[in-house]
Amino acid sequence: MELKLNYPDYNKFKEARFQLVDRLRQRGIKDERILSAMNKIPRELFVDPTFVLQAYEDVALPIDCNQTISQPYTVAFMTQCLNLKEGSKVLEIGTGSGYQATLLYLMGMRVYTVERIYELHIKAKKMFEMLGVDVNSKWGDGTLGWKEFAPYDGIIVTAAAPKVPEPLLEQLSINGRLVIPVGDRSYQAMYIITKIGEDQYKQEQEHYFKFVPLIGEKGWANGEYPL
Ligand code: SAM
Repeated sequence: MELKLNYPDYNKFKEARFQLVDRLRQRGIKDERILSAMNKIPRELFVDPTFVLQAYEDVALPIDCNQTISQPYTVAFMTQCLNLKEGSKVLEIGTGSGYQATLLYLMGMRVYTVERIYELHIKAKKMFEMLGVDVNSKWGDGTLGWKEFAPYDGIIVTAAAPKVPEPLLEQLSINGRLVIPVGDRSYQAMYIITKIGEDQYKQEQEHYFKFVPLIGEKGWANGEYPL
């Protein structure tokens, strides 16, 4: 998979991109498919224009509608946890800027992504078109998954859930993995849940991530999230 990168400033951030990827490698990201794809994605296009110069710092940054593009380390870590083979079908909940979906696409996955905020859904769609990223995107409540195309080999939730939404467990294939941050407003543990049989799951946990809330029927109620 390749991106359409025929805009004049692409090479301006080449060195910064390379250095970011190198930092991720030093922090323990071992999957070279992830590192190589991140070395191609112009993160400066996905952040709020005010933050272009910080685009290659390893930090979460603002996008529209009070949401964020996740920290590059977190994106790489969660993707590594999914442990996907090329050609796997993967569902992302929380399209946001479209960066994570672009990464999965570049890694050769069949990508489905859901966003609850209409403006972000439309903006990400335009970005996918501009960069030639062939993913399926939908506006809706991702706590319910995307049943029509289930089961998925991997499901990645990029917003903080109060508990694991059951529809996402149901929509996993056998041996499929759900990677989801679960917790309260201060921090979330990263749950890595593997479906080992119908109604049988194995769960591992990593700590201390901080995400914006997953709002929806099986997530936080709108307005309920204690800021
Ligand atoms: N993955 C994104 C990226 O690459 O830019 C970053 C996602 S941002 C940290 C979390 C996103 O989850 C926000 O855009 C937010 O609107 C979205 N979100 C929150 N609750 C949602 C839900 N129930 N369904 C779909 N998206 C949701």
